Amino acid sequence: MPSLIHPINGASAPIYTLAEGVPQAKNDTSDQILTGSGGGYVLLTSTQLLEQLAHFSRERIPERVVHAKAAAAWGYFEVTDDVSDITDAAFLNSIGRKTEALCRISTVGPERGSADTVRDFRGFAVKFKTDEGNQDWVFNNQPVFFVRDPAKFPSLNRSHKRHPTTNASDADMFWDFHVNSPESIHALMFLFGDRGIPKSVRHTNAFSGNTYKLTKANGEYHYVRMHLLSDQGIECLADTDAARLAGTDPDNNVLDLQAAIEAGHPPSWTVYFQVIAPSDIAKAAVPIFDMTKVWPHKQYPLRRVGRLVLNRNPRNWFAEVEQAAFSPSNMVPGVEAAPDAMLQARMFAYPDAARYRLGANYQYLPTNAAKAPVYCPTERDGFMNFTDNYGSDPNYVGSQLKPVSFKASNVPQQVRANGAEIKQIVNTLPPPTLDMVSATTLYPVRSASELADLDYEQPRALWQNVMAKQEGAQARFVQTLAGHVAGVKNSQLRSDVYALFEKVDKDLGRMVKETTESKIEALHKVI
Ligand code: NDP
Repeated sequence: MPSLIHPINGASAPIYTLAEGVPQAKNDTSDQILTGSGGGYVLLTSTQLLEQLAHFSRERIPERVVHAKAAAAWGYFEVTDDVSDITDAAFLNSIGRKTEALCRISTVGPERGSADTVRDFRGFAVKFKTDEGNQDWVFNNQPVFFVRDPAKFPSLNRSHKRHPTTNASDADMFWDFHVNSPESIHALMFLFGDRGIPKSVRHTNAFSGNTYKLTKANGEYHYVRMHLLSDQGIECLADTDAARLAGTDPDNNVLDLQAAIEAGHPPSWTVYFQVIAPSDIAKAAVPIFDMTKVWPHKQYPLRRVGRLVLNRNPRNWFAEVEQAAFSPSNMVPGVEAAPDAMLQARMFAYPDAARYRLGANYQYLPTNAAKAPVYCPTERDGFMNFTDNYGSDPNYVGSQLKPVSFKASNVPQQVRANGAEIKQIVNTLPPPTLDMVSATTLYPVRSASELADLDYEQPRALWQNVMAKQEGAQARFVQTLAGHVAGVKNSQLRSDVYALFEKVDKDLGRMVKETTESKIEALHKVI
């Protein structure tokens, strides 16, 4: 049965119609008489047939260049603890306040139809539909990232995708990038470790990676990193199980999330912040704007803020998930960007990708539309503008004419929800460059690939302090890593990989070398 309510204009449609409403008696035949055997002619006057064929050819939009395959659900964020001392953001304040949220958890490199259980980072994007406009968190399931210079971002991703000649993934290309961008060593330690393949999206954490700034109307601010820790606990897959599921159940993670919600077990994450006051930057244990580093828990303990619950499955995947667009640039009053180069670049790249993928009016699509009143008459027209386009309101800045199309009673000015002028707040904030100066004095700027001892300290801590305490974790790490490096055909490149891991720990480098070369030897014997 067709839907009785038209999805766009809301009119009731008791019978099948063409897209512009003309009734069609039958929608499963062309409107010419066919012979019993299925032969015959169809004419260009068969509007129904032509419409169906033409629309079918156009039903794909460009898939995301990264993060194409995802699980997703709706839910809410609830404030559980008071953070009013560090931010005015309304959705983070008032214990018990709930804000509707859309969450999309994706693999990164593989395409939209690829298997869920691959060894890869996971994207963890949340759109909070707050009373002050949309706030997006576009996070990863690992606390660090591979690069710290955004100029390398496209190259990093290409090296993890398909080779331009073979159109297959390629271990030489992957490691050629990483040995020449060794700042990725910390992220590689996570990728090939026990937490490299989440069992499901419910069983993985999420981290901002980037540093954000939380602000108060009085001009005070703090730097923060956000952590979402799974209340289901961390559970991961071994390569063998992951490979089996990739073959038998490639949409495993997508369906697992839907089944859990359907069965009345909504997954949740507890949200924490790590916080640094600007006055403490000078004594910071790490360069705080560097995405290849974590902020050590001991110096910067996790401070609980709230909880994210996912309790509603999408009703239409394309409308609610494929058309969803997340961007780190969506920030409400009380949240700001820090002088974090990766964050700054992402604030351009994500909306740019959405404009390419969905068009200039993507922010008005129902799944992206803010719940808060929107009045932005200087952004109008463009392809597929399905709004009233601000009617006859002035389309230029500075007009004194009264807007007529804005329906809400309080015509928006440059005002925050709490009445303070945005301009004033911005003017009272110290310029971010002061913090950059203090951070870079402490940690002198190096070209992104020029590594200091400091760059190996945290990977070393993961190897020597964290993995060493978990039974078999180091051995599994070496096996997994060697399995991948064994695919590298160029022997000089393999030696460079061993040298990279040797800088983390001499034994680690030696073990990776021995295990990899013996895997290659065994393979040659079989061949
Ligand atoms: P701690 O020594 O206080 O805690 C270790 C962290 O590592 C915990 O978050 C733990 O998560 C996580 N962890 C445990 N096993 C693994 C694994 N096999 N793969 C990846 N992560 C694991 O942390 P520090 O702040 O002192 O940092 C020590 C090292 O831990 C860092 O160099 C970094 O590599 C890693 N780490 C640090 C994080 C941070 O934000 N500070 C976050 C995650 C890892 P859990 O509590 O769930 O067991």
